[in-house]
Formats: sequence, structure tokens, C-alpha cells
Amino acid sequence: MSRFLRESARDLVPYVPGEQAQDKRYIKLNTNESPYPPSPLVQKLIAEANGADLRLYPDPESRELREAFARAYGIRPEQVFAGGGSDTVLGYFFMTFFDRGDKVCYPEISYGFYRVYADLFGLEPREIPLREDYAIDVRDYFDAEGHIVLANPNAPTGIALGPEGIEEILRRNPGRLVLVDEAYIDFAGCGSCLSLLPKYENLVVVRTMSKSRALAGMRLGWAMAAPELIADLDRIRFSFDPYNLSRLTMAAGIAALQDEAGFQENCGRIVATREKTLRHLRERGYFVLPSETNFLLARHPALSGEELFRRLRERGVLVRHFGKPAIRDFVRITVGAEDEMEEFLKIEGELL
Ligand SMILES: *Cc1c(COP(=O)(O)O)cnc(C)c1O
Repeated sequence: MSRFLRESARDLVPYVPGEQAQDKRYIKLNTNESPYPPSPLVQKLIAEANGADLRLYPDPESRELREAFARAYGIRPEQVFAGGGSDTVLGYFFMTFFDRGDKVCYPEISYGFYRVYADLFGLEPREIPLREDYAIDVRDYFDAEGHIVLANPNAPTGIALGPEGIEEILRRNPGRLVLVDEAYIDFAGCGSCLSLLPKYENLVVVRTMSKSRALAGMRLGWAMAAPELIADLDRIRFSFDPYNLSRLTMAAGIAALQDEAGFQENCGRIVATREKTLRHLRERGYFVLPSETNFLLARHPALSGEELFRRLRERGVLVRHFGKPAIRDFVRITVGAEDEMEEFLKIEGELL
């Protein structure tokens, strides 16, 4: 830390991303990436991209990309905001709708970035405990103290609220915004709350291409909301980073949206592998939360979360372990390809 770092950033605890290990080849089940490659349409586009175009700035309004999202999700282009990964979309949400000292409400066990942004923007976090079964109790969010941020399905629990639950929260907070981070919704049976968009002007739905569309390396996320909210987000974006998406990123996003069949097929494979892995782990005595995502949160009957993480790592399997007391006993296991999960289960069987 230099002596020049601004005073208010000295106590920041930055987000710690899952390891992208370089020391050897691991079965990588720690950052919820897709085990399958991006759509062939995206790969073809990148291979054939005209590099000479890169001398020109990209469209700061990302019109074609917004139109593609609008077509894919049955909304209008004015209802779409796009950014480099949903992390930056979340960042714009915090920058746009909070003043310093405002309160922000989110579950105590959820995506770690919410706390980081609360601290970065000088907000007062209100971390709301989960129920004993690790689910969200919607009543805890009625008449909230500040805007609400929910991951649904939640991470790292994997548990989802149905759109009825989200709607109750929206109805009980007409003067608050409710951001629903649907990073994992494509793996969920519960259905998206996107259908509530015409009815609620306080709803913001955030999605990413990083998980279900296998484009974590491209960095593309987006928000869908009422046009007035999108215009507010753009007001801040044009005051910060108007060319926030590269030409290649936008083109890749459009191509990815065109491959609906390949997308559905990969989501289906991951869900099937998830259910199979869950069954096996439970048969071996693990306590595993029900998951509507591409990961499983599991607790070993005899090993601590940290010990399990360490032993798997030694044997070439990376999973994620979190230090928070409520989930310290667990590890989060990304659902990989069928053969990766077979190998994982084989190694797990040899652990004790
Ligand atoms: C992975 C993840 C994100 C971030 O995704 P990017 O688009 O890669 O920035 C956001 N929210 C949740 C809940 C996630 O798990």
C-alpha cells in the first residue's frame, strides 16, 4: 500500500477470485466455468474477425448487441444495459443508485462481490441471515432498509426462489430497487423473474455469459430493467467508460445468442451431470444442498471443508472453500463434464 492510496480505500478487502492455477493441470471445479467450449458460431466469428476494424472505436450505445438481447428475451433494446462481465454491471448499479452512507440489503451468505461493492462505494451493508435450511426467507426483505440485491439461484448455496417469491419482495418494496442476479438461472427449474419486468419498474435482472454460455474469458454481462433505469445506468456509464465493450465482445455476444440449440443442449448436460453427482455424493454420506445451478455445496461427514479442499487439491482437483462461519464446513464443487465428475468421484473415493 503506498502512502498515496486514498484514505477511504485503505480498509478495503478486495474480492478474492477462485484460483486460476498455473502450476499443473487440475480438474478445475472451482470457478463455475462451463466445461464445454463456447458455441462454434462464436469460435467461427473470432477466427474470421477483421482485425483492421479495431482501429475504430466500438459503438458506445452497443445497439446491435442490445437489439440481439431484446430479440432473445422478448423485451425492447431500451431495456438492456450491457457491460464487461456482470461484475461491472453490478458495479454500475451500485454507482448509479446509491449515495455514500445508503443502506444495501443482501443475504449474509451470497455472492462475495456485494459486500466488496458496498465497501467500495461507502455504503452500509445490511447482511440478512439465511434460514436454517440455507434458503432465503422472503419476509426478511419486506419493507427493506435499502435497495435489495439477491442472487437467484443464490450462490454459493445453489438454492433458488421461485418468481412468486421475488414478486412478493418487489410488491413489498415499491420504493426500493430489487436487483436479481440471475448468473445461474439457465440451470434452474424455478424459472426467471424476467416475466415480472412489465409489471415492476423497481426490478433489475442481471445475467452473464460467463457460466451457461461458456464465455467467462470474453467478459460480457447485461441488465434488463425499465427504460428509465437503463437510461440512469447509461448516464453513469457515459461519465465513466462510454466504450465499455470491445467490438469483438459485442460480436461474440450476438453470435452466442444465435446458437439456442447448442446452448440448451449444454445446459441440459450440466443439469444431468449435476443430479448424478449429487446422488453419488449423498450415497457416500455427504450433506449436499439441493442445487439449481452448475455447482454443488457439499459437506463431508468426517472432514472439515478446509481439509477436504486441501486433500482434493493435492490430488489434482480444485474446488472452492469459503471461510465464512455458516459455510466453513462445506466445499463448492463446480459441475464439470461427465468424465471430469467421474474422475472427481474416483479421487474422492480414495481420500480417506
Ligand atoms: C460468476 C458470478 C457473477 C460474475 O460473472 P461475470 O459476468 O463473469 O462477471 C456474478 N454474480 C454471481 C452470483 C456469480 O456467480
